[in-house]
Formats: sequence, C-alpha cells, structure tokens
Amino acid sequence: MGTDIAQWLWPVMVIVLLLLLLAFQFQHQRRLGRVLTQAERRGKRRADSERDSREAILAALAHGARVLFNNRDKQSAMERALAELGEAVGADRVYVFENHHDETTGRLLASQRHEWCALGVEPQLDNPAMQNMDYETVIPGFRSSLERGQAVHGLVAEIPEPERSLLQSQNILSIVVVPIIMEGEFWGQIGFDDCSQERRWTEAEINALGIAAATIGAAIRGIRAEQELANLANTDSLTGLSSRRQFLERARSAHLESMKLAKGAALLVMDLDNFKSINDNHGHPVGDEALRWFSKACRECLRDQDLIGRMGGEEFAVLLQEVSEADAIEVADKLRRRLESSPLKIDEDEIQLTVSIGVAVSSSSERDFLSLLKRADHALYEAKRNGRNRVERAEPHQ
Ligand code: GH3
Ligand code: MG
Ligand code: MG
Repeated sequence: MGTDIAQWLWPVMVIVLLLLLLAFQFQHQRRLGRVLTQAERRGKRRADSERDSREAILAALAHGARVLFNNRDKQSAMERALAELGEAVGADRVYVFENHHDETTGRLLASQRHEWCALGVEPQLDNPAMQNMDYETVIPGFRSSLERGQAVHGLVAEIPEPERSLLQSQNILSIVVVPIIMEGEFWGQIGFDDCSQERRWTEAEINALGIAAATIGAAIRGIRAEQELANLANTDSLTGLSSRRQFLERARSAHLESMKLAKGAALLVMDLDNFKSINDNHGHPVGDEALRWFSKACRECLRDQDLIGRMGGEEFAVLLQEVSEADAIEVADKLRRRLESSPLKIDEDEIQLTVSIGVAVSSSSERDFLSLLKRADHALYEAKRNGRNRVERAEPHQ
C-alpha cells in the first residue's frame, strides 16, 4: 500500500512543482512586462509631449500666419501672431529684433521691433538697451551662432558672459533665439524668454521655431513691401510731402472733424508764380530744387498738426485747423513773405521765387469739402489776376 502511494505521489509532486514553476515564471514575466511597459510609456509620454509641443507650435504658426497675411493692420497682426506662438510654447515673452548697420561705424546692430508678453511679465520694447544693440560688444556669442543659421538656447545660468548679465538683468531664466534669414541674409532674430521657471528646449521644438522664424521673416518682407507701396502712393517723391491723394483724404477728414467740433478750418491753395520761366532760364533740375526749397520753407513756417500736400506740378495746398479767418490770412502771408525774402541760391545765382495763395475759411453751412476747395481755387485765380505774389481771401460761402 505504502509503495502504491509513493508510486503515484511522485508524479503528482513533480506535476505540482512544475505548475508552481510555471506560475512563478508567468508571474515574473508579467512583472517584467509591467516594468517594460512603464519605461516604454515614459518614453512614449516624452515623445508625445515633444510631438504635442511641436504640433502646438506649428498649429499656432499656421493660425498666426493666417492672421498676419489676412489682416490689414500688419503691426497689430504681428503682435497677435507672436501672442499665439508665445501661448503655444508657454513662453513668457516673444520678440523680434531687426538687424541694421550703424551709419558712421558700419557695425552690425540689432533693434527690437515687435513684442508680446504674458500677463505680469515686464515688456522690454521701451527698454533703451534693446535698441541699437551692438552685436560685437553686447551679444558676440549670439552673433556667431545666429549668423551661421543656428539657434541659441539654454539656461541663462549656463550661458557665458557678456550675454548672461544682459539676460539676467531682464529676469530671464532660459531662452531660445532663432535667426531670421531673409533672401540668404541674416535679417534678425526671434526670441522666446522664460522668466518664471527654467526650461530646456527640445530639438523638435527648436526645429519648429525655425519654421516660425522663416514664416515671420516672410511676413515682415510682405509688410515692408506693402509699406513701400503705400508710401509711393501717399508721398510725393520729389518733396517728401503728402501726395494729392493723401492730402485730400486727410484734409477731408480734418475738415469734417472741424465741422463736428464747430472749430474753424482754413484751406490754402498755393501756386508758384511764373514757374515755367524758372525751368526755361535755369533748367528743369533747378526747377526741381526750387520745388524742394518751397516745400521746406512751408514746413518751417507751419505747425506740426497743419496738413500740407503737393497737389501737382508747382501747386500746393495747406489745411489749417482751429483757426479764424484772420489767423489763416496771417499764416498765408507769412508763407508768401518768407519765400519773397529768401531767394534760392544756386552756385553764384540767386533765384527769386514768389507764390500766390487763395484762402478759404470753412463755414458751418458748408459741409462739402470740394466746395471749400473750389472757393480757395477761385481766390488763387484772383491772386494771379491781381498781379501774383499775393494772398486773396475767398468769397464767403453762400
Ligand atoms: P503762373 O504764375 O500763372 O502760375 O505761371 P506758371 O509759369 O507757374 O504756370 P504754368 O502752369 O504755365 O507752368 C507751370 C510750370 O511748372 C510748367 C511745368 O514745366 C513746371 N513744372 C511742373 N511740375 C514740375 C516739376 O516737377 N519739376 C519742374 N522742374 N517743373 C515743373
Ligand atoms: Mg504757377
Ligand atoms: Mg500751376
């Protein structure tokens, strides 16, 4: 009997032992599996957050670019685009610096042009140290990287001098600065500051910021081109005064404002006398110089708020606000006398210029700016008819 039990107990014990071994192995595998999954998950989480942060930058950039390219007010659109980027990356400050050269020494300088700050973070746009910053002496380390198209990033405590002191004086704890390259030239930089806690930027984030810098660069180029076009349309290239178009636009709204506030406005229409003979006797370039001379004399006689424009040829106009008729006549005569008493000197020659001026003062019954213009034109015609180098007042509005 005893041997019988021993006979079947053996295999049972072996089987139980095997089962125990298997169970232990299984348990161990599961534990191993859990450890692996956690490590993987940590890695995945890091990859996810890098990807999320990179995607957040790109999404903010895509939206910012739409804001930049579709908005008419480019300056505020730029600030909004920087805000989108700043919020997406969780930075405390985002800004754009433009490079330029010192006029006398030719040294490379950087000046801050745009900025966005998170709530409670001190802006730096008005900090004089952020204007005309000399790369060579103030940020030499930044220059060598940025010029090669490389970003500068790190904890401020680890950044060498002299940059470290500059950044610490603005309470910056960590920073990333990406160059803006335009048409192959080092145009400027876009920077992101962390002022509340230190942060190490990942490569994926810095790559995304590189795309941001290129987009901002393209937008700035577009803004500049638009501004140049607008300047061409609004400024007379010979004298630098407002073009006819801009003058009429501004004068019309200034006239309207004066009507609303019941404050007097006056329009002066001026035409240089016998100008054709100046061209004939001295040549067209001297005629051009005379037009510039007259424009300069006008600017010097007028207040900053007075509007002046070149209406075409040798005809100019001025809109004075908050003036009585006597004031307006006085201003017009001051301009006339000024020109009469200061001949244009070209080499040995002295060229005498004179001007005729028609003055029309607005009246509360005359809301139409064109009617005011017509009356001033008519007064100018009278000044010419009465012998030139004269000021004539317009007939009152009926
Ligand atoms: P008035 O006293 O009646 O105004 O005589 P005026 O000779 O000034 O008038 P007119 O309209 O006969 O001639 C205007 C001249 O102004 C003719 C034109 O060549 C000249 N002029 C117009 N624009 C320019 C310019 O941009 N540069 C130069 N140099 N001359 C100009
Ligand atoms: Mg003339
Ligand atoms: Mg004329």
